[in-house]
Amino acid sequence: PGPCQYYSTQTTRLEQQNATLNALVYLDSNPPASVHTRSLLNDLKLAVKDNICTRSMPTTCSSMMLREFQPPFDATVVKLLRDGGASIIGKTNCDEFGMGSLNVHSVHGPVVNPYIPPFSRGKPFCQEQRSAGGSSGGSAAAVAAHMCDESALGTDTGGSVRLPASYCGIVGFKPSYGLISRWGVVSYADSLDCVGILTRKIRDVMRVFELASVYDPKDPTAARPATRTRAFEACKSYLPQFTSTLTGLRIGVPQEYFPAELQPSALSPIRTVLEALKSRGASIIPVSLPSTPYALSAYYVISSAEASSNLARYDGVEYGLRIDLAPDADKTKTANVYAHTRTRGFGKEVQKRILLGTYALSADAFENYFLQAQRVRKLIRADFDRVFCVPNVLTTASTSAVDGVHVLLHPSAIRTAPPLPNDKDSHQEATPDGLDDYVQDVLNVPASLAAFPWVWRQKDEWPMGVSVVGQWGCDEMVLKVGEIIESLQ
Ligand code: GLN
Repeated sequence: PGPCQYYSTQTTRLEQQNATLNALVYLDSNPPASVHTRSLLNDLKLAVKDNICTRSMPTTCSSMMLREFQPPFDATVVKLLRDGGASIIGKTNCDEFGMGSLNVHSVHGPVVNPYIPPFSRGKPFCQEQRSAGGSSGGSAAAVAAHMCDESALGTDTGGSVRLPASYCGIVGFKPSYGLISRWGVVSYADSLDCVGILTRKIRDVMRVFELASVYDPKDPTAARPATRTRAFEACKSYLPQFTSTLTGLRIGVPQEYFPAELQPSALSPIRTVLEALKSRGASIIPVSLPSTPYALSAYYVISSAEASSNLARYDGVEYGLRIDLAPDADKTKTANVYAHTRTRGFGKEVQKRILLGTYALSADAFENYFLQAQRVRKLIRADFDRVFCVPNVLTTASTSAVDGVHVLLHPSAIRTAPPLPNDKDSHQEATPDGLDDYVQDVLNVPASLAAFPWVWRQKDEWPMGVSVVGQWGCDEMVLKVGEIIESLQ
């Protein structure tokens, strides 16, 4: 990798930073002040991932397919935050349609991790360029580099908020599925997609989440108000009232979350946190989630299957890119327009997922792949339900453990941010078989298939997060434990 570029004096600070990091793909350097009735967010300058629709700004999903797309409306979450006082400063780079773990599969090029490790500080050149993580890498880099006030929106289908947060050393929050509306969020895999929040401090997550977590009748998968209330009440009644100690707080450490791929240095942050929590009176309890080893395969089957169906709408006819046939081509063969458009419009990784997903849904493979993956998903949910003390309000037969844990704690990633491939233009081919990317998700996908976490950061060397996972709807409990951990730093 080459040296970091120097900032020119001709451009604004944001443009200068962006020339190095490539975090923003659209910049509104002078966003109009929002007309708002509530001002909880006090003119917060927010960056929004480029797969969340924004009026008067492009929404490209980092894809050639939507390069010219400008939605005439705001996604519900964007509208809620604008109404609450936030102004949108721009759109952030991401992996194409949210598919990836390193933010290298983007038509806008890869995102560079802005973190400067202590051993490089003050040196004229960056030692190496590392990945900001994906797929919400632009949002994480924008927050870490102070390009937006405190917060950015991302989306998390199988770790896309949590992994970049860990790589960039910030907080990444994936709420319980269904709490933040997905209306206006471009679908990757509907049954897993969540809007997530990236910030530097937990209290900023809370500010944004409070406004964003509202029932939206336009989103058919949104959790109903009664379900939310039931979950919040159940969680509240289980969380002990902390005074000066953490007595009564039970933290589970799942043994399956320390796989062979885990870098030895990934262990130190979680050890430090566990020791500190223990010394303040919390009980640390080893637990087992036996279906974890199957989660990654199940996730990629389910997410690819849903993606293949969702992405079928980009056909070169209604909207998005259209590659017309040569004037002398047979115009009756519309499939050719479809094939040409999709071959040019989608990058290699997206094409791979479409093929995998289409295969998993085909008559021959459906039983062995898709249904099998759905069975694994059920087992994973049951694993989580067995270890939490709070019952899962989404399942009728709730089997919570009386002596179960309040939250789980585990490393957020198997390693610190990996180096970016040397040739920035080779981003589509960065990892030819893609498996290296996929393994990065091994610790995050089980919670996507069931519950949710956030991230804590280690302060020296390259950052490494610690995830807190709670029962569905216990977002407040998870954030509370997050605040406690934050205060230990
Ligand atoms: N890396 C995972 C994938 O490629 C997760 C992506 C996401 O959460 N959007 O599918």
